[in-house]
Amino acid sequence: MNADIIIIGGGIIGTSCAYFLAREGLKVVLLERNEIASGTSSAGEGNILVSDKLPGPELTLAQLGRSIWQDLANELPDDFEFDPKGGILVAETADDWQALISHTQKLQHAGVTAQLLNSDELYELEPYLARDLAGAALFPEDAQGYPPAACRALVKSAQQHGLIVLDHREVLAIKHTQHNAVSAVVTTQETISTPCVINAAGPWSKQVAILADCALPILPRKGHLLVTEPLPPRVYHKIAEIGYTTTVTQAENDLQVAAVVEGTKSGNILLGSSRQFVGFDASIEQRVVQAILQRAQRFFPLLAPPPAFHVRVGFRPYSPDHLPIIGEMPDVPGFYVNTGHEGAGFGLGPASAKLLSELILKRPSVMSIAPFHPARFQQG
Ligand SMILES: Cc1cc2nc3c(=O)[nH]c(=O)nc-3n(C[C@H](O)[C@H](O)[C@H](O)COP(=O)(O)OP(=O)(O)OC[C@H]3O[C@@H](n4cnc5c(N)ncnc54)[C@H](O)[C@@H]3O)c2cc1C
Repeated sequence: MNADIIIIGGGIIGTSCAYFLAREGLKVVLLERNEIASGTSSAGEGNILVSDKLPGPELTLAQLGRSIWQDLANELPDDFEFDPKGGILVAETADDWQALISHTQKLQHAGVTAQLLNSDELYELEPYLARDLAGAALFPEDAQGYPPAACRALVKSAQQHGLIVLDHREVLAIKHTQHNAVSAVVTTQETISTPCVINAAGPWSKQVAILADCALPILPRKGHLLVTEPLPPRVYHKIAEIGYTTTVTQAENDLQVAAVVEGTKSGNILLGSSRQFVGFDASIEQRVVQAILQRAQRFFPLLAPPPAFHVRVGFRPYSPDHLPIIGEMPDVPGFYVNTGHEGAGFGLGPASAKLLSELILKRPSVMSIAPFHPARFQQG
C-alpha cells in the first residue's frame, strides 16, 4: 500500500489535517492506534477561546481558529454542538480585578472584542454567580464545541474526499531513504510507503518523533475534568477566574487549580481545571477533585452540595515555550509535526492544520508559521 500523506493520530489535530488535505485530491491515510478521538481530544471541555491568550502568535492563531470553527459549523454536515456562547472572566479579589482590567485592555488592543462588566450587567448574564466578586469581563468571541463529535464530523467529511482511516493500527516504525527522508510507516498490520508523514500524536508525539530519529520536547500535562449529571440550565457562558490565564501560561511543577465552570448543550456542567506534570499517570486523584470542586463552589454556590458527577482525566501535549510546534522537522525531509497545543488544541486545531496543509501544499499562508517552527528547539 502507498499514500501521498500519512497522518499519525486521530485526535482533533490529525482529523483537522485530514480534513484540509484530503479535499486536495491527495491520497491521505489516517492512522490511529485506538479509535478516532480516543486520546486527549475526548477529555477536554471543547472551548474555543481567545480570552485566555496573551497578545502574540498564539492569540493570532486562536483568532484564526475561531473564524475557521465558525466556517466548519456552517460547512460540516454533522452537528458538533458548536455554541458561540461567549466567555466571562471573573475576579475574586481587588488584585484580581486589577489583573483582569489589564488583561482585558491588552486583548482589546490586539483586536479581541471584550467588555468590562458592572455588577448589574454581570448578574443579568449569570444570575447564579457568587455575589461578592470584585469584577468581570465578557469575551463574546469565546465558543464551545463537543470535541469527539467534531473529530468524527471532520473525518466523515474528509472520507467523502477519499480519506482512508485505518484505526486500531499502532505506528511501530518510520523508515527513511538513504538521504534521511521518510519513505514508509510500519504499523501493527502493514507497511505503507509514503514521502510525507504528519506526526499528530498529541501528548505521545515525542514518542512518535523518536521513531523517525527526531527529538520533540513534548510532555504530558495532566488535567482532571468533573462532568456533572445533566441539570437545568444555570451557567450560560464559559466562566473562568482570571487566575486561570496564569495557570495556562505558566508551568509550575506543582498542582495548579483554577475555576472553570460551564454548561453544555446536553445539560452537563463541566468543572475544571487542573494542571500537573506526573507523566502518563491516569489515576483520578481525590485531592485534585476536591480542589476543583472547592474552587467551582466558590464562584457558583449552587454547586454545594455537589450534584452527581464523573471525572475525566487527560494529558495535554505541553510544549516548553507554550506555543504549538508546526512544520517540517529539520534533517528529516517529509516528516512534519503538528503538536504541542497544550490546553488549547481544540480551539487551535483547525487553524494549525490549515497552516500545515498550506506548507505541505506549498501555498501562501494566511499567517506566518515561523513562530511555531520545530527548529526553534535546536537553536540552543
Ligand atoms: C482536562 C482537559 C481539558 C481541556 N480543555 C480544552 C478546551 O476546553 N479547549 C481546548 O482547545 N483544548 C482543551 N484541552 C486540550 C486539548 O484537548 C488538546 O490540546 C487536544 O485534544 C490535543 O489534540 P491532539 O490531536 O494533538 O492529541 P490526541 O487527541 O491525544 O490525539 C493523538 C492521537 O494519537 C494517537 N497515537 C499516539 N501514538 C500513536 C501511535 N504510535 N500510532 C497510532 N496512533 C497513535 C492516540 O491514540 C491519540 O488518539 C483540554 C485538555 C484536557 C486534558
